[in-house]
Amino acid sequence: MQDTGKMSMPADLISHMFTSVLPQEWLGYEARPGQLQLAMAVSRALDQSHLLVAEAGTGTGKTLAYLVPLLRDLDAGSRRVVVATATIALQEQIFAKDLPQLAQVWPVAVKVALAKGKSQYLCRWRLGQMVQLGLGISPREVDHLLGWAHQTQTGDLNEVEGLSRNLLGHVCVDDGCIYPRCPLEENCFWLQARRRVWQAQLIICNQHLLLSDIQVRQQTGGQSSVLPEYQVLVVDEAHHLPGVASEILTIRAEARKVGWLILEARRFSGHGLARGKLQELEAANQQFFASFCSRGTEAYLLDSVNPNQADDLLDGLQWLWEELDSLVFGDAEADLSERRERLKEQVENLRQTIAFIFTSTPGYVSWVEAGGNGLPSLNATPIAVAEHLRHHLFNSVEAALLTSATLATGGNFDYFKQNAGLETAVEVVVPSPFDFRRQCLLYLPRNLPEPESHDFYPQMVELLVDILEASRGRALLLFTSFRGLTAVFNGLSGRIPYHLLRQGDGAKASLLEAFRQDVHSVLLATASFWEGVDVPGPALSCVVMDRIPFAVPTHPVYQARLAAHRQQGKDPFWQVSLPEAAIKLKQGFGRLIRSRQDRGVVAIMDRRVFSRSYGNFLLASLPDCAVTSALEDVRAFFAGEGGPATGGDR
Ligand code: SF4
Repeated sequence: MQDTGKMSMPADLISHMFTSVLPQEWLGYEARPGQLQLAMAVSRALDQSHLLVAEAGTGTGKTLAYLVPLLRDLDAGSRRVVVATATIALQEQIFAKDLPQLAQVWPVAVKVALAKGKSQYLCRWRLGQMVQLGLGISPREVDHLLGWAHQTQTGDLNEVEGLSRNLLGHVCVDDGCIYPRCPLEENCFWLQARRRVWQAQLIICNQHLLLSDIQVRQQTGGQSSVLPEYQVLVVDEAHHLPGVASEILTIRAEARKVGWLILEARRFSGHGLARGKLQELEAANQQFFASFCSRGTEAYLLDSVNPNQADDLLDGLQWLWEELDSLVFGDAEADLSERRERLKEQVENLRQTIAFIFTSTPGYVSWVEAGGNGLPSLNATPIAVAEHLRHHLFNSVEAALLTSATLATGGNFDYFKQNAGLETAVEVVVPSPFDFRRQCLLYLPRNLPEPESHDFYPQMVELLVDILEASRGRALLLFTSFRGLTAVFNGLSGRIPYHLLRQGDGAKASLLEAFRQDVHSVLLATASFWEGVDVPGPALSCVVMDRIPFAVPTHPVYQARLAAHRQQGKDPFWQVSLPEAAIKLKQGFGRLIRSRQDRGVVAIMDRRVFSRSYGNFLLASLPDCAVTSALEDVRAFFAGEGGPATGGDR
């Protein structure tokens, strides 16, 4: 269903905000027709209580476009809104920058709270225990943590610098929280944050927390939740939602979790729990998980494993539960008794989890993540998440907006809507304010071999030398594999007069900073750099993608998804592989033009975009811009910087 654009009652207010208030009051505000169009569509979704799927091209200013109608709705009514982002960075930007800036020009009395998972907060009680026992923490680290804990207002562990994640993992809030018996409850950061969230009308969280909330509700029959009830939902960077849902809904058993439970059980060995049997259980655990380490680091299907392989461990966990259950504690041992109850619950959960993973359940795929650290995990992942999202998320809200710059593929939303359980949602496409025909040239060289050919990377290097000479460096080279990245890095080394930066030679943030600072540098990167890289200005004037970014076909969950489509008589390549590649290609393309002043070339080195029948589908997913296969046009484009792009239509 398309958004019709029919006006609703508050249209005047929304329009007034974007055409009058913001341009006059917000320093540096640029009016963008697409932003107003999106705001009006969100306003209608709120008024008419429907689901809206909105693709908002790069530079639309979509955050402001949904915040204004949301605040208008909150100001006028009694609904609660949850905004879920894909990253903590965007979550914090909305809370700490966008909302305060908007409040300066439009003061609306709305209570806002930032919601983060409990493991993001310091547990004062665990910190006290750790300091008291002195386990695994140096005096310097103790001073550092205590100093920070004394002055922090939030207890958010993201504020701590200079301490390892591993160490912070020992002092964060976890399932062992002893509330309501905690002597530090009054000053507990997590409980304070939770209270703020429960009192707020507008909650800013991330997608992991949003989905953890529906999972907890489901597991506890609605008795418990991570978030309070809400009626309106906004999912930003929504193309991530099905993937995050798949991750959160995965049922997982890890060797270290079993080890931790056995360690905890040792506390009870002085109360009648047989120490020898515990050691046997520990040995069974190690042997069990070690048997999954022999296949290297690749993820693999559990199908090929003996279904009775887990029997010894399951029997051991059953024994542990019964032993714990039989322990008798005196009146003065209430603490221990409560601890025993919690441990029993965790042991039973783990036993059921492992049993579930080893049972063939329709709709789930069981697989092993071997891991490079010798600590494998066993997983059962739902093959499709659409039904779950539809039933537990979208059916329980009055209105929802799902937005991103990359939702449509091949000119429609079918793939995203089917994947996310949003078949009935209203659609709107808001074009980017950028003039891609003037600002951008798409270069599709025709003289390179097929990407599988052993000549592909050597010949790509030769062509890159010419492209980078024309662009004077200033390029982001995106790869689908480290193998390709390394081949090109080695090939270009010493051949171009520009600094080569390579993923892996530093943290992402510092590499990007170096890339920004050294305007002519060339950055070579893979996966995570295909999105989220925002480098406006001349330092990023050329984006090169080595291959069509098809997903790795060997992952068991991906294979199960393809097989499920095949069983339904659908073509998995057209229904899954191609739309996913189109979204990623679009994300890579989106790194180039970040402002109205930006100008540059995107080059796709994979000849399949024009030699295969599916090439048009991929190209139709990209912004409308001039296209060429002539290197001369690329040279002319860079030589005439400031003028329009030359090239033909697709
Ligand atoms: S209430 Fe729980 S999370 Fe808070 S300090 Fe106590 S044990 Fe830690």
